Amino acid sequence: MIPVLPQATRDHPVWLAVGTLLDGTSTTPRRDAHVVYDADAIRFVGDSGSTPPASVIREGQTAPDLSAPDATLLPGLTDAHAHLFLEGGELDFDKRAAYLKQDAAALLALALPRLEKLVRLGVIGVRDAGDKDGVGLAISRMCKARQSSAGILPASEGQAGMPALLPYLDSPGAAIHHRGRYGSFMGGALEDYASPTECVAARIAEGADRIKLIPTGIINFKKGAVTTEPQMTVDELRALAAAANAAGRQTFAHASGDAGIERVIEAGVDSVEHGFFVRDDQLARMRDRRIAWVPTFAPVQVQLDNAARFGWDAEVAGHLKRILDNHAASLVKAHAMGVIIIAGSDAGSCGVPHGLGLLHELELMERAGMPALAVVNSATGAGANRLGCREKFGRIEPGWRARFIVTTHSPLVTVANLRKPLTVVFDGALQTSGVDPFGL
Ligand SMILES: [Zn+2]
Repeated sequence: MIPVLPQATRDHPVWLAVGTLLDGTSTTPRRDAHVVYDADAIRFVGDSGSTPPASVIREGQTAPDLSAPDATLLPGLTDAHAHLFLEGGELDFDKRAAYLKQDAAALLALALPRLEKLVRLGVIGVRDAGDKDGVGLAISRMCKARQSSAGILPASEGQAGMPALLPYLDSPGAAIHHRGRYGSFMGGALEDYASPTECVAARIAEGADRIKLIPTGIINFKKGAVTTEPQMTVDELRALAAAANAAGRQTFAHASGDAGIERVIEAGVDSVEHGFFVRDDQLARMRDRRIAWVPTFAPVQVQLDNAARFGWDAEVAGHLKRILDNHAASLVKAHAMGVIIIAGSDAGSCGVPHGLGLLHELELMERAGMPALAVVNSATGAGANRLGCREKFGRIEPGWRARFIVTTHSPLVTVANLRKPLTVVFDGALQTSGVDPFGL
């Protein structure tokens, strides 16, 4: 019979022994690991043979609360590119357009229930990728309020209107684009300000945790290429990145097409989002400059998988297939070269739902040829190490948040196993998805 896993509180730590530990950064799995955690943080991590010292476990405790040799423990997942203000599952263009016409309060009210669902799926961190209605900023404020109240605020003591389960989220507020160019649905125009510096200062005054840039347009699927010139110059991008960095904020840049990617690399942004048509020499410079890559396969794969529905003929489907194949080949090269790869789904995009969209993205990265453990690391420790988030999550190390997944369906066999029932521990408390393998 499987022992019952107790709830951890600040004063009541829980000791787990698991067959496999994926700590978020190691390039090999750790076997027969011991993990002790309380509601605030992980207290101890040890491999087989190194049992926890008395100082981190309960008085008189001599054995783990749960020994699960068949189970794998891994950090909760982070979606590094999601638009919380959009309903991603919707495929119908008219419905998507009508949805966007709602006011900011309505969009926020619709976004809040998504947060608890994310946690139950094992997604414990989100880098919101921008909206002009302040939905991401509002959720970010809730996260800060919870964090500031002496560590972890129990759900029952949460603010009015705050979801019971709140993943970490930070937001850039409105993305920055040029008036008349791509991005008006999620951004505001650089032209509204006298200079890039003033534009960045205004975003930060509104509460932006980081700065989202839209230096290029999107892929023209009919032509199978990015057919518009980049919308920002290298000088503009440099000024925006410098202003953000001076204020302690990272920048992330929507960039597809090698001309635009070239500009954002030269400007020194922190990450390239999408990056379709990236060249090998550009990947090498991204590695050298520690510019992360968030490849977002899912929204383009959805176009191919639903080609008939979107009215794409065989020629366009051929373009989509070629673009995705090239993107997959670039991902494998980037991984081999040592580029920092961070998983992001572009959830909120047409056909990419929040949560499940990230699981789809991980499957697509694996299908592209990235090893399963590297894919897991891209959704956990890679973000934790590069994104500069306010809280410590995404790694299984002492001092990091106790927000993790326990599953008997090993993601090392395939990351698709993360769709199967699993247990989520969030700040020491148990959440489950589907039928819980531990019968909790
Ligand atoms: Zn996006």
